Amino acid sequence: MYINPPQVTKDTAHVLFAQFCILNKVLWPIIPHLVEEVWSYYSKTESFYKHQFTVPSEWHNSEFDVTMDIVKELFGMIMHNSVKNSVYYDTKIFGTAEQIQQLQKLHPSDDQAHNDSHLCEILQVQSIQLVESPSSKLYIEKTEIDKKLCDRCRRFAVASDETICKRCDNILKEMNFTP
Ligand SMILES: [Zn+2]
Repeated sequence: MYINPPQVTKDTAHVLFAQFCILNKVLWPIIPHLVEEVWSYYSKTESFYKHQFTVPSEWHNSEFDVTMDIVKELFGMIMHNSVKNSVYYDTKIFGTAEQIQQLQKLHPSDDQAHNDSHLCEILQVQSIQLVESPSSKLYIEKTEIDKKLCDRCRRFAVASDETICKRCDNILKEMNFTP
């Protein structure tokens, strides 16, 4: 979370706060005292049971559940037989036209490998290339990278003579950070 550009960090904090509220709402009928105690670290003036919270209506998207079901399946495949952390793998995802179409909502739709999509972030892999396959089965090919990871984000591979990735370099420049 803290390695991202300021706006992404802000967006992430917004989603995490919503998750915190949802969890509190679900748990309150079972363990109200514990929820109120946790909430008291956030609000000193209002109890959680008085707090009005609703999930934004645009977050209810049943169509997206289909996409996320495929993503969950892929997540299991990436974890299976991986000896290293998933960020050390370039991946090719093979699927039917419909499955690839669903995944394109989270990843660029050309035939190239990309490393900066939502799908890469969710699956925590180095890069992804989507490939339409005649087989009806969803499957994944993993190739271990032979580069080291960025010292700052531990997410993107860098050349041997670099210490941080281009993305981190841009973020630091954007934040006017000078070492
Ligand atoms: Zn980096």
